[in-house]
Amino acid sequence: MDNNFDVVVIGAGPGGYVAAIRSAQLGLKTACVESRKTLGGTCLNVGCIPSKSLLHASELYHKAKKEFNNLGIETTDLKVNLSKMMGNKNKSVITLTKGVEFLFKKNKIFHLKGKGSVLDKNTVLVIDDSKKKNTYKAKNIIIATGSIPTSLPGVKIDEKTIVSSTGALSFSKAPKELVVIGGGYIGLELSSVWKRLGSNVTVIEYLDHIIPGMDKDISSEFLKILTKQGISFKLNSKVTGINVTKDRAEVNFVNNKSSISEKLESDKVLVAVGRKPNIGDDIEKVGIKLNQQHKIQVNHKFETSITNIYAIGDAIDKGPMLAHKAEDEGIAVAEIIAGQAGHVNYDVIPAVIYTNPEVAMVGKTEEELKKNNISYKIGKFPFLANSRAKVNNETEGFVKVIADKKSDKVLGVSIIGALAGTMIAELALAMEFGASSEDIARTCHAHPTHSEGVKEAALAVDKRPIHF
Ligand SMILES: Cc1cc2nc3c(=O)[nH]c(=O)nc-3n(C[C@H](O)[C@H](O)[C@H](O)COP(=O)(O)OP(=O)(O)OC[C@H]3O[C@@H](n4cnc5c(N)ncnc54)[C@H](O)[C@@H]3O)c2cc1C
Repeated sequence: MDNNFDVVVIGAGPGGYVAAIRSAQLGLKTACVESRKTLGGTCLNVGCIPSKSLLHASELYHKAKKEFNNLGIETTDLKVNLSKMMGNKNKSVITLTKGVEFLFKKNKIFHLKGKGSVLDKNTVLVIDDSKKKNTYKAKNIIIATGSIPTSLPGVKIDEKTIVSSTGALSFSKAPKELVVIGGGYIGLELSSVWKRLGSNVTVIEYLDHIIPGMDKDISSEFLKILTKQGISFKLNSKVTGINVTKDRAEVNFVNNKSSISEKLESDKVLVAVGRKPNIGDDIEKVGIKLNQQHKIQVNHKFETSITNIYAIGDAIDKGPMLAHKAEDEGIAVAEIIAGQAGHVNYDVIPAVIYTNPEVAMVGKTEEELKKNNISYKIGKFPFLANSRAKVNNETEGFVKVIADKKSDKVLGVSIIGALAGTMIAELALAMEFGASSEDIARTCHAHPTHSEGVKEAALAVDKRPIHF
């Protein structure tokens, strides 16, 4: 193989593999280095895909147990076969990671197996499992090395008793007691999975609310719903330490307001307090600038401080750490390298939590608008008044549309309810095209669908919902 490339991508997560495919589509000779055995990064191997597989399976089990009877579907001897459920999850991961391999072959992308590092602005070193070294010349390098879980000071993740999300995706049996540190989306999705599969789950969150960054109305509603589902919450609480003895953990925490200390015993502790960029020593050695959070600084063209070296995805200082953000950046950076005008609109990146009900948002929250002194108007519509949601017994939650007070342009939408994650796409598209709430309200929505709730919330911005 000739070791000269137009583009060498380091990391084959949703940022890196998409950047590689788009580069190849644009006629650039492309290679992608990956240190993991399989392609697809965190997302396909230990993130989005395995978590959604377990969420789906555990939700069906929960429904079969708690809801089927009301629908006239009688079940007997219902039980979980966890190893089969895990097998199904692993099968999905294998199918999808193999799918990326297929796409690499189809697009004639060179898959370089091993750990890549940047030697200089045109050279990448790859060390494979047998420690064999190879260097590759690249006109352009794209760093897409993603992120890894963080922990708390003094808390060591051993992936046995104290686990990261990776460990919590592979428990061999449902822990009797599970303590989850962190009430963000990863912590809550996995709390839902294990609660449904039989664990007693307690979430300890430092702030006085869950899902930081999302609309407070949604966060309060979500807290009520999850509490009703049996998940316990200790809000406003700071974990001060965890003692592990044999296979048990004792989690110590203190209430930020009352300063009262408490402790909880559990079989497993999931630390879900966030993720940090996965940055090798090489990055700083070659002089690529990082910000204070140790993220790679890039400009609007995804260029780092070194010419010809670009960065995208979880590793950079732009946007949320989400797979679809990384993918869009992968497309944009390839187009920019090829001389086209790739771009990512960071104002319109949807975020979804795949619990039941789902939670989704796009654009600004009410709190952000208040903070920035932007005048707005709100339209809300509860799923209790939506016919399809009623028929399906999915009446929890609501749609909240926020529009500019003067121009009526949609500034943000938050949804809590069944199918929120699917419905948010319509709103992202509307916002991308600069729609007003009136535009959404005048768009015909099929009946009976949950999406009619979106139309009604848009009508409610002008105080004229029909069904509420
Ligand atoms: C449990 C969990 C659930 C999630 N669910 C969702 C979800 O539902 N939706 C969503 O949008 N996001 C979700 N995410 C986040 C999502 O997985 C990330 O935002 C996304 O994977 C980031 O993509 P990336 O390409 O930047 O990096 P990554 O996916 O982290 O990929 C980086 C790749 O680079 C490789 N690599 C690193 N360094 C080197 C090196 N030196 N040489 C070679 N290879 C290297 C790594 O092995 C890895 O495969 C979830 C994350 C977790 C942990």
